[in-house]
Amino acid sequence: GEGLPRPEQTRIMVVANQKGGVGKTTTTVNLAASLALHGARVLVVDLDPQGNASTALGIDHHADVPSIYDVLVESKPLSDVVQPVPDVEGLFCAPATIDLAGAEIELVSLVARESRLQRAIQAYEQPLDYILIDCPPSLGLLTVNALVAGAEVLIPIQCEYYALEGLGQLLRNVDLVRGHLNPALHVSTILLTMYDGRTRLASQVAEEVRSHFGDEVLRTSIPRSVRISEAPSYGQTVLTYDPGSSGSLSYLEAAREIALRGVGIHYDAQHTSGGN
Ligand code: ADP
Ligand code: MG
Repeated sequence: GEGLPRPEQTRIMVVANQKGGVGKTTTTVNLAASLALHGARVLVVDLDPQGNASTALGIDHHADVPSIYDVLVESKPLSDVVQPVPDVEGLFCAPATIDLAGAEIELVSLVARESRLQRAIQAYEQPLDYILIDCPPSLGLLTVNALVAGAEVLIPIQCEYYALEGLGQLLRNVDLVRGHLNPALHVSTILLTMYDGRTRLASQVAEEVRSHFGDEVLRTSIPRSVRISEAPSYGQTVLTYDPGSSGSLSYLEAAREIALRGVGIHYDAQHTSGGN
């Protein structure tokens, strides 16, 4: 649906979890598309050298395409690399190319190495409601750049055994960056992904995550869905690939919950498919 409240200021959300395969990229692109379909203007920053978010959004990111590497390492303006996402109005992407893999090393010797993304975003003049940053599965300088640039951390957690393991390290990094470089930084949102409500394990993990994090955990969780995993190979989000699917509805609902929470409006679950 349309008509969600828009944030007063651009909300910059860092999608992070140093574990791979927990749904960072899937969440970034599908949440971004959902927010855009709700009427927001949204930029996805692909900060993973794999470029999976760029692929999933149908954005050209072969080696010669101007990319977030040029922004971080060559100080190119963000506006030079941002591309509109086909088929989704209001959605944009700053793609990652393979040379981003070298940036982790190249950044070390550059001035203001931790705040290059922050500077680029501050200089970007197009109006945006949300910027979602898809992080690589590590806590190196790329992720630090994201944590310095954003105010909110969104942690996708896969509902499996050991889900909370390793999160301590991410949370300590968030504390360090808040203490030294970005006082506004906080974990605002936890999203349970690949949730299978039929298994005892998933509901136990969900309960554990909720008792550990409390209100930061969205009431909407994302079900395990084949349609969600198929969409990227068509260069699409699940929102355009299969709009009526449970995966699509759950991301729309998560987007609604995030938008309402952002302006302090109480959230009431609408779709049973999205909540649990
Ligand atoms: P990360 O970015 O954290 O490494 P991905 O978003 O790439 O994780 O997800 C890892 C894999 O799990 C991908 O193959 C993706 O398609 C699949 N996946 C993610 N979310 C779901 C879901 N809700 N249902 C089914 N498969 C999913
Ligand atoms: Mg990823």
